[in-house]
Amino acid sequence: MSQPSIHEAGLPGRATVVPDRVPGNMRAAILHGREDVKVERVEVPKLGEDDVLVRVHVALTCGTDLKVWKQGFHERMIKPPALFGHELAGVIVETGSAVDGGVRTGMRVVPSNSAPCETCFYCRKDQPNLCEDLLFNNGAYAEYIRIPGRIVRRNMLEIPDNVSFQDAALVEPLACVLRGIHETGIRSGETVVVIGCGPIGLGFIRMLSVRGTRVIAVGKRPSQMRAAERLGAIATFDVAEIENLVAQVKQLTEGGRGADAVIEAVGRAETWQWALAMVRKGGAVQLFGGCPRGTEVKIDPSVLHYSEVAIKSSFHHTPRFIREALDAIVRGEVRAADFVTGEAPLSELPAVFQQMKNRNGELKTAIIP
Ligand SMILES: [Zn+2]
Ligand SMILES: [Zn+2]
Repeated sequence: MSQPSIHEAGLPGRATVVPDRVPGNMRAAILHGREDVKVERVEVPKLGEDDVLVRVHVALTCGTDLKVWKQGFHERMIKPPALFGHELAGVIVETGSAVDGGVRTGMRVVPSNSAPCETCFYCRKDQPNLCEDLLFNNGAYAEYIRIPGRIVRRNMLEIPDNVSFQDAALVEPLACVLRGIHETGIRSGETVVVIGCGPIGLGFIRMLSVRGTRVIAVGKRPSQMRAAERLGAIATFDVAEIENLVAQVKQLTEGGRGADAVIEAVGRAETWQWALAMVRKGGAVQLFGGCPRGTEVKIDPSVLHYSEVAIKSSFHHTPRFIREALDAIVRGEVRAADFVTGEAPLSELPAVFQQMKNRNGELKTAIIP
């Protein structure tokens, strides 16, 4: 157990001091079941020999967490009662006895929420997001979080000095977005429709426009439309305001043929069908939004066959895209300021989730434990 006094290498002029002793207990959000999260006093997690303990400086809310909170569990990721939250950045305050030199206390880090095993069938096929033993880690809405050794070794990155904790905490959702773009095979100069203007849809809009594609955004509510424009969309359609959406979107594509690619970031049967109706022959559709269990989607087989539309559906991220995401953040291509619409102390987390449920136009909230 190490007890160094740590001076964090934070933003210039904003250096903070991490307490040199980790207390025995901490405040943390515990998910108990459906729409039931409480901030409680619990023991600070004990470390295995290759784990590290991170003092959480910021944790970001996420659509996945909202989904998990609503249903009270996640089959693969979280079984209540359980620590909760997965997008974070912080400072290492303790390291296990077998953690080696490169990883040290005082280091500002962004630990991913998962790491693949690197030995199973899918890892050997270079599809580590489908790893049969993908290790998930939750507990970001807390003062401290244990980062398991496998994540420390494979999916925890040091945050460069000029990058803030909030910017760095975007790595996980951004990695999913970048992998989605890669899997869809989008090239610069193409016209891409993004359906859905929540944080993920807006992430696609931002990264696609940074990379020189013409982005048409489909969302709802004026606040989403304004965000989509600010992040680079050349045109926006508010579904609440418009009739013949598919036809209107296609009018903005070359010869009215349809978009080169369509990204669906909502997760509903209807929006999956819109995506297939908006794409041109030979184009690609990325069905990124996961639909609720039991959803059935009708698909016209002729769209797939005679029009040669490729359907992709990306899940999660891989170590490669975790790194590419941090690189994009370092280059300033994505900033928390565009996605984080509010800040709240940990004690207000239950209220923050209630607000997200009512969808008051907020994107992400930065929880400061
Ligand atoms: Zn997330
Ligand atoms: Zn594996």
